[in-house]
Amino acid sequence: SFRALRAVKDESGVHPEFQQLTLTDLPPGDTLVRVTHSSLNYKDGLAVAGQPGVLKAYPMTPGIDLAGTVVQDETGTYPPGTPVLLTGWGIGERQDGGYAEYARVRSEWLVPLPEGTTPEWAMSVGTAGFTAMLAVLALEDHGVAPGSGEVLVTGAAGGVGSTAVALLAQAGHTVTASTGRPEAAAYLRSLGASNVIGRGDLPALKRPLEKERWAGVVDSVGADTLAGALASTRIHGAVAACGLAGGSALNTTVFPFILRGVNLLGIDSVACPTPRRRAAWARLARDLPADRLAGVTQLRPLDDVPALAQEILAGRVRGRTVIEVGP
Ligand code: NAP
Repeated sequence: SFRALRAVKDESGVHPEFQQLTLTDLPPGDTLVRVTHSSLNYKDGLAVAGQPGVLKAYPMTPGIDLAGTVVQDETGTYPPGTPVLLTGWGIGERQDGGYAEYARVRSEWLVPLPEGTTPEWAMSVGTAGFTAMLAVLALEDHGVAPGSGEVLVTGAAGGVGSTAVALLAQAGHTVTASTGRPEAAAYLRSLGASNVIGRGDLPALKRPLEKERWAGVVDSVGADTLAGALASTRIHGAVAACGLAGGSALNTTVFPFILRGVNLLGIDSVACPTPRRRAAWARLARDLPADRLAGVTQLRPLDDVPALAQEILAGRVRGRTVIEVGP
């Protein structure tokens, strides 16, 4: 048997519980993975804390990311012992995810660990970092090149935000990091931000179009923050919408789109197609090697996840959290 953190539902609601499982408890799939590491994302916080919307059934093992080694792959794609990572595709939402020492998944969901990286590195990136990479690739595809001007990152001290700051700075962009935590300024500068501004210092949304400022935006906050970002993005700039840490409503007008040709780019990490996925991981391995991520990452045991879930929902987790799952 092996250990898993489960979200269970009873009369009192949904709560996290450590359980011993056997391989027969795992969902169907063609590939068994021995999980050594997982990570903590905002979504995992919601799932573990029993908030509705993430888990589609109970009991369920949360954890939308995992890394480890292949035990057996019935498709023959990966020999036993191959180091792999998996983010998204519904694990930790629709079927059991990374907060257990074994996971049964589909071979096609796996990404081989990039050359020279470790499972711990992969989980330090995790869904949050992968999403940040997709956002940066989307901005680049829409012509936001280094030298185009200031690129804004909102929710900058969070997982998506921290990684976005580091990736953009590494690519040569001038990065302005927006955070609600003034004490995170030195941290954000160490990641490469040129400017750090408070949440309240973002251009306010008073008019449909504000003064043009951003060449590009990576937004993990949503709501008025995203609306304000759209209104203050420069002509033909682009805004990558990644998250909703500040709310899911979007109250805006069409003016940024039709008068400035601003593009609103949707970012989805869960079902990102495999070729894009692999290209993003290759670029992450190149641009964010383990030493560059070290300052962003804390390593914590699986036992801490119930408490960490409350912390991330309260906006008190800085950067990325890697979860040690098994030996
Ligand atoms: P996280 O580490 O908790 O970061 C979120 C950050 O947003 C916080 O650190 C905080 O940054 C800011 N924030 C929190 N509450 C806020 C509020 N009420 N108003 C304004 N800002 C607030 O979470 P994450 O894992 O990076 O995820 C960030 C968001 O992206 C989440 O909404 C998540 O669901 C979403 N996401 C989407 C995808 C996708 O595929 N599209 C993938 C991953 C994540 P400061 O402390 O710096 O202000």
